[in-house]
Amino acid sequence: MSIYTGPVFDMARQQFHIIADHINMPEDQRDRLLYPKRAIAVSCPIHRDDGTTAVFQGYRVQHHLSLGPTKGGTRFSSSVDVGEVAALAIWMSWKCALAGLPYGGAKGGVTVDPTELSLRELEGLSRRYMQEMIPFVGPHTDVMAPDMGTNEQVMAWFMDTYSMYQGKTVTEIVTGKPVASGGTVGRREATGRGVVHLAMRAAETIGLTPKTAIVQGFGNVGSVSAAELAARGVKVTGVSDHTACYFDPRGLPVEALIRHVAAKRVLAGFSQEALADPASLLTRECDILVPAALERVIDAATAGDLKCRILAEAANGPTTPDADVVLAQRQEIFVVPDILCNAGGVVVSYFEWVQDLQQFFWQEDEVNARLKQILDRAFGQVTARAKRDEVGQRTAAMAIGVEKVYAAKQVRGLFP
Ligand code: GLU
Repeated sequence: MSIYTGPVFDMARQQFHIIADHINMPEDQRDRLLYPKRAIAVSCPIHRDDGTTAVFQGYRVQHHLSLGPTKGGTRFSSSVDVGEVAALAIWMSWKCALAGLPYGGAKGGVTVDPTELSLRELEGLSRRYMQEMIPFVGPHTDVMAPDMGTNEQVMAWFMDTYSMYQGKTVTEIVTGKPVASGGTVGRREATGRGVVHLAMRAAETIGLTPKTAIVQGFGNVGSVSAAELAARGVKVTGVSDHTACYFDPRGLPVEALIRHVAAKRVLAGFSQEALADPASLLTRECDILVPAALERVIDAATAGDLKCRILAEAANGPTTPDADVVLAQRQEIFVVPDILCNAGGVVVSYFEWVQDLQQFFWQEDEVNARLKQILDRAFGQVTARAKRDEVGQRTAAMAIGVEKVYAAKQVRGLFP
């Protein structure tokens, strides 16, 4: 029996088999493509502020090493388990391959609610997690980045901890670092910028001038997506995080929401009048719906109730395979699938890694122009493939990613 269990892993496996069937992958090749190369589980003890000791479970899953180092974020969240981390690592593989990056997928995580830690405790946990991972990561082995519950500061602690053990500064060990310590300009905004750029490409494709948007999740990706939408004149009528949900048909003040979260860490406490029911946020009417929080928030029933024109999947795995079946019948909704929609983050992580390796840093306009170039190319490939094969955008996007990894494995052969 495999260690990879749970609903999120089951979903990644189910999606993979849909693609494997679609591209006629022989049965005996499938496990080689699907199952992760490696999974590491560690216990991370830290000193709490009250003098006690607490232990948190951490994981890192490296999906495949066929194209280069593995790449992916590290998540601090109470929902983290090895099955979820493995699914997220698998999705990173298809995402990197679709974007043409020389990486396999990885993901890491610690089962913890980071909002319950003080800053000092968060630093202790971040450093201990990286210290436990040192034998398994490296600039040409596995390169971490931020994900849900982690940020630039956590990446700076990861980089510092790794560097102290090497006796030299190794900025290229993680991406998503602060610009002050080897990060690249444009990385923090990259995922949200990519999401909105692609949502606009989708709008263009269906001949829509989008007027309204709803964003679920207000971390780095959700908040930047909301700001980018507002900057393009799209009214953001709904937002939510795990503490509050706000809706106002006249449009919410995005800049003020971002300032509130910067001060208070959460959306709660921003407004009484705009408070709304989080359960119905996704099914309210809007032009662009951006799920930017957890996996599996859109099931078949929710998919049937969606009233958006464009579903721009900023989160990883927000839509279940059952929901995809429903969406396939609903031709009026254009889906920008997660591995395309949120690829801007890892694309600019790749730029950061390249800049760190070369110690040659780019200007923000160069970062943004190259980001757009890669996303536009991938968008064009996905829409062309969807048309050619008469399938949804998700099947098209994943087929391109899976085929690239499959091809690399085929030509390299099986060792020994
Ligand atoms: N965690 C992000 C993702 O899911 C970024 C990964 C990276 O930059 O390596 O795509």
